[in-house]
Amino acid sequence: MIRGLAEKTFITFDITFFTGGIEMQQENNEIKTNVEQNEFNNIHIKIDSVSKVFNQHAGNAVTALKDISLEIKEGEFIVILGPSGCGKSTLLRIISGLIKPTNGSVYIKGKKVEGPISDIGFIFQNPTLFKWRKVIENVLFPIDLMGKNVSEYKEKAQQLLDLTNLNGFENNYPKELSGGMQQRVSLCRALISSPHLLLMDEPFGALDALTRDTMNLELLRIWRSSKEKTVIFVTHSITEALFLADRVIVLSCRPAVIQEVISENFPRPRTMGLKSLKEFNDITQKIYKIMLGNKM
Ligand code: ADP
Ligand code: MG
Repeated sequence: MIRGLAEKTFITFDITFFTGGIEMQQENNEIKTNVEQNEFNNIHIKIDSVSKVFNQHAGNAVTALKDISLEIKEGEFIVILGPSGCGKSTLLRIISGLIKPTNGSVYIKGKKVEGPISDIGFIFQNPTLFKWRKVIENVLFPIDLMGKNVSEYKEKAQQLLDLTNLNGFENNYPKELSGGMQQRVSLCRALISSPHLLLMDEPFGALDALTRDTMNLELLRIWRSSKEKTVIFVTHSITEALFLADRVIVLSCRPAVIQEVISENFPRPRTMGLKSLKEFNDITQKIYKIMLGNKM
């Protein structure tokens, strides 16, 4: 009864994150900013002058986002970096269609987002696994939810578990896994339906530094091996942002505006040695200064 209710609640909030899609192809063309018929050809996501005010008509209005505009190419790894409480999660929820912007619009492949979108994998800081489902059953949950034939996806689930070094733990329960392993299970669950878009909201924020570094490397490896999906990753860690991203979008304190777009990036595949390069540290310092308002 409790399980049924919990899964139903989960369904209500998260069904949209688990519907499937076809593998995407990466193209390297430049972003087109001019308005023309095929404006959205290589742009996966267009965020157009998005603002969000909570409790607008109550006495305690909070402006979370102010006039955010951004175009994200297919296959790009975008990191949204900003201080706690600035509006990062709000932006992800607006992109996913879970909440509506107060002003402005989001377009996915040229189509305006009007409600919860499909073809998306969403990963939160908390792995949100069902404790009564074994690892493999958690990974297959979205397939179950969509009413598809679970047995047809078992091989894919196993491949994902292999890819994330979880082979041998298929029949364990979440409580028998470490935090990092649980987060890898939630990554497999997000990938089982081959979504084109991964939204990751501080997914490794609760992990210790070493596990976080390992997870960052694994994420980049998985991203490359799974046809380079578009990823929007949220963090408040500058080094994590720079290590992962093609472009880092630096948000200001609330109300969040785009303070800077850091387009300098490093060759892939990346290794931990990157973090000791002078260039890496120089850009880290530059971002610190931007975030501290040049007070350094
Ligand atoms: P971040 O993810 O960057 O830490 P959030 O997007 O969660 O920040 O929140 C941004 C601001 O919006 C915060 O001040 C938060 O209190 C407010 N906020 C977020 N969600 C709601 C909501 N549902 N109702 C009212 N205020 C909200
Ligand atoms: Mg948040």
